[in-house]
Amino acid sequence: MRWAPITSRSLALVAWFWRRISEAVCPLCCVFCGARQFDAPVCDGCLGDLVRVTDPCGNEPPFMFVIAPYEYAFPIDAAIKALKFRRKLFYAPALAHLLMLSLPAFPDDVDALLPMPLHWRRHGLRGFNQATEIARPIRRATGLPFIRNVVRCRNTPFQSGLTAAQRKRNLKSAFAVKGDLCHRHVLIVDDVITTGETCRQLADVLLGAGAKRVSVLAIARARPG
Ligand SMILES: [Zn+2]
Repeated sequence: MRWAPITSRSLALVAWFWRRISEAVCPLCCVFCGARQFDAPVCDGCLGDLVRVTDPCGNEPPFMFVIAPYEYAFPIDAAIKALKFRRKLFYAPALAHLLMLSLPAFPDDVDALLPMPLHWRRHGLRGFNQATEIARPIRRATGLPFIRNVVRCRNTPFQSGLTAAQRKRNLKSAFAVKGDLCHRHVLIVDDVITTGETCRQLADVLLGAGAKRVSVLAIARARPG
């Protein structure tokens, strides 16, 4: 039997087959480094490199708990900005995956998810709500419903660059519940928490409308400043 000579064409063919096979076996790419992945959107190496906060879980009132597992640092900050401002929607399931990994167990009594509402004007300009995109895989995994009758009724300016007092003024009466709220423990899903004032304002409105408990799940905690 005679072997065919190895040509650049046959090498390219082998490479093409190898690529197809690896895509079939490992259909995902790590969103941070591009490494082929079997079933997770973030590889173990990148997961180990992410900067975790030292106190990811708090329970300061009015919240039942607040979980924000990562520092707002590279590459999490870059991923959140790319999702929000450059419409890189593939980051949303990866960020949701990181959130689910950070929960020791999904709290039993949570009975609804509330992606942090965007004002309709900003939603219209952006075309999507990044918090909804991040919350969607969590809804699929838990089977919990989204609350859809809470609105942001003021188009507040961006919070970054404001002092704590300015943020508080900026957010006064920013949210409203339209109709009834029949859920007992609402889990707010957001991308970044800074002072927590936005979530506090939202929690006050939810508690005033009949919710018994409100908690927060966010990807990252940014230091005010
Ligand atoms: Zn990676």
